[in-house]
Amino acid sequence: MSKEIDTAVVGLGAMGSAALYQLAKRGEKVLGIDQFSPPHNRGSSHGESRMTRQALGEGEELVPLVLRSREIWDEIERVAGVRLLFKTGGLILQSHDSQVAAHGRSNFLRRTVDVAKKYGIKHEVLDSREIRSRFPQFNIINEMGYFEEGAGYLLPEPCVEMQLELAERFGADIHRNETVLEIVPSDSNDKVTIKTEKGVYESGKVIIAAGPWTSKFVKPEYSGVFKVYRQVSFWFNIDKTHVADYSPNNFPVFVWIFEKGGEFGFYGFPSNDGKTIGLAGEQYSQATIPEEVNRTVKDDEIKNAYASYVNNRMNGVTGVCEKAQTCLYTTTPDSNFVIDVNPEHPQIIVVSACSGHGFKHSAAIGEVLAELAIQGKSKIDISKFSIARFRKS
Ligand SMILES: Cc1cc2nc3c(=O)[nH]c(=O)nc-3n(C[C@H](O)[C@H](O)[C@H](O)COP(=O)(O)OP(=O)(O)OC[C@H]3O[C@@H](n4cnc5c(N)ncnc54)[C@H](O)[C@@H]3O)c2cc1C
Repeated sequence: MSKEIDTAVVGLGAMGSAALYQLAKRGEKVLGIDQFSPPHNRGSSHGESRMTRQALGEGEELVPLVLRSREIWDEIERVAGVRLLFKTGGLILQSHDSQVAAHGRSNFLRRTVDVAKKYGIKHEVLDSREIRSRFPQFNIINEMGYFEEGAGYLLPEPCVEMQLELAERFGADIHRNETVLEIVPSDSNDKVTIKTEKGVYESGKVIIAAGPWTSKFVKPEYSGVFKVYRQVSFWFNIDKTHVADYSPNNFPVFVWIFEKGGEFGFYGFPSNDGKTIGLAGEQYSQATIPEEVNRTVKDDEIKNAYASYVNNRMNGVTGVCEKAQTCLYTTTPDSNFVIDVNPEHPQIIVVSACSGHGFKHSAAIGEVLAELAIQGKSKIDISKFSIARFRKS
């Protein structure tokens, strides 16, 4: 069956839902397809909270994306009458001697301070004494702190849901529970055929936003670029006498980078429910594929997480784990994003902006993708996100 579509979006997680909304808002005839019913818990855009910081130690090229995203979240909150972003402040802890890289970057705290200074982002650098007095929840040794007042967290599921709902209000067609099997560009590069298990669609352009499934849709030479890692988030109970200490009014989002060791440390959020605190580490030692991920979290994993992160570090957080959930990171060799137009078939656009830090940028990435589909170029510079940087010469 053929349909007249300007742009099809394959995958409707953080990136795809944002792209669909931005395209539909601009009056494009759009079709969004997802193999599940987003927001769902089998990809990368679930788990109740996503941190948003403005000075990015990961790389200053990301700052325009996060700043624009903040404007878009504001706009969606106003239009839809929902709350998506909570400004709690954000704290990064790292000692002077730390040898550990976070999101592929060493000296993460120092890099963050440099970016904050360059972009005029309001922040404070705290010594250990100031951290102990302002944030007694952390049992630090000799760490320094970067505190950003404007940091906070987003609610990932409502962000995805609202953008899909708004896209539908602007006329987008959404096909849930439909798996895309193949994307075939026409010889003349003026359209693309999308074959699914339920139908065949012809579209002017296609945006591939398949998250951990991206490798299926890129040329074999690039399929090894996107590695998928199972991560686990844990929700530990707070001792009753400490509940107020971890409320969003009293506790910031945080990243604690350790001094040494294989993994970077851990990060966490204020309590959403007045009972538990959500936190997670990261692992890059064992890659996987989405179809083979073990979604069950073992007791040993919970015990290890408590011993490695919480015990002796977070005052008043108990070892009782209320909930634990798996989620997938899709990483590239330099821990940065891919947002690119296929040079051989310009009607195909690909985004794989994850590497564990993509959500905060997703609203603006959706806008970038819409601009690429409609005008062939974006207002925000995306030259650093070209897939060609991974080409083997
Ligand atoms: C535990 C965890 C914590 C994180 N914390 C943060 C954070 O604090 N701050 C931050 O900024 N970022 C964070 N991230 C990263 C961020 O969440 C991701 O960058 C972002 O969610 C990726 O979105 P996506 O749209 O690329 O992928 P997904 O949300 O996985 O979406 C891809 C979609 O494509 C669909 N799809 C795939 N293949 C097909 C097919 N063949 N046919 C149809 N549909 C298909 C899937 O069903 C899925 O819905 C975190 C990630 C994880 C896992």
